[in-house]
Amino acid sequence: MLETPLLRFLSQTHDALIALRDGEVPSYIPELAKADPDQFGIALATIDGHVYEVGDTQVPFTIQSISKAVVFALALDTIGAERVETAIGVEPSGDAFNSIRLTPDNRPFNAMVNSGAIACCGLIADALGAEAFPLIAATLGRFAGRTLDADEAVFVSERSTGDRNRAIAYLLRNYGGIRGTVDEVLDIYFRQCSLLVTARDLAVMGATFANHGVNPVTGEVVASPYAIARTLAVMSSSGMYDFAGEWIYRVGVPAKSGVGGGILAALPAQLGLGTFSPRLDAHGNSVRGIRTCELMSEAFDLHMLSRR
Ligand code: GLN
Repeated sequence: MLETPLLRFLSQTHDALIALRDGEVPSYIPELAKADPDQFGIALATIDGHVYEVGDTQVPFTIQSISKAVVFALALDTIGAERVETAIGVEPSGDAFNSIRLTPDNRPFNAMVNSGAIACCGLIADALGAEAFPLIAATLGRFAGRTLDADEAVFVSERSTGDRNRAIAYLLRNYGGIRGTVDEVLDIYFRQCSLLVTARDLAVMGATFANHGVNPVTGEVVASPYAIARTLAVMSSSGMYDFAGEWIYRVGVPAKSGVGGGILAALPAQLGLGTFSPRLDAHGNSVRGIRTCELMSEAFDLHMLSRR
């Protein structure tokens, strides 16, 4: 991919999709409803550290569920694969991200939905106590290549309206899936979801996944190849919630979305893609983000199962 055609393509895609106004800004976290629905940024980072960007790529928004991918990788590396893989499954749930349903043996289906992410926070909190959130925030920052701040208003908003997540956490605790107090574990989860990133950050984070755990901009090793490969595997099957099957069929690139309007996609050994556009479809995925990734995948033949 030469620089000029790539930038031109990103810019044409941005121009073409700016007219797409389908979807809604989420309101179940009241603070998120304040997002400007028209913002739209696309960034692409290669594994040799070049970043290409168009539109609102420097606008901060909350990372939300995209954090789940990084925190799963962190849990594998810090707690050990065996313990994490015993506590949290790797099967797609086919349910919405906030589903309260567990597997028949009462475990979260996978770490990309709320139940699995809350269980991951519980495991890290168990092992690290008060150091859990600082380590989570620092790790997300290492993937992005810079320190990330939290959006305190979104954190408070989600904590005060998060009864569904509270219900999930109580259910997990009932089955031994989390051991700490529900509020302590959820505080970590809500805080990680409220960290602020940009589309550019997501592209760099994606490129870090694509680069087997080495941030291509800073050169830092931020996760093990094992954790990265397993996280990408779960992203492939479950990163886009109950749209995951369609996604991997149509786009063919491991990805993770968040209700803040971001999508992170990572094509191993190639590139990371970060998109930001707050209007979401019924699954909670950014409408323009999905369309952007579809167009990119088609134009540059990114589908991982059709690569030569
Ligand atoms: N913090 C959000 C929640 O738990 C994250 C959901 C998402 O991004 N899909 O509901």
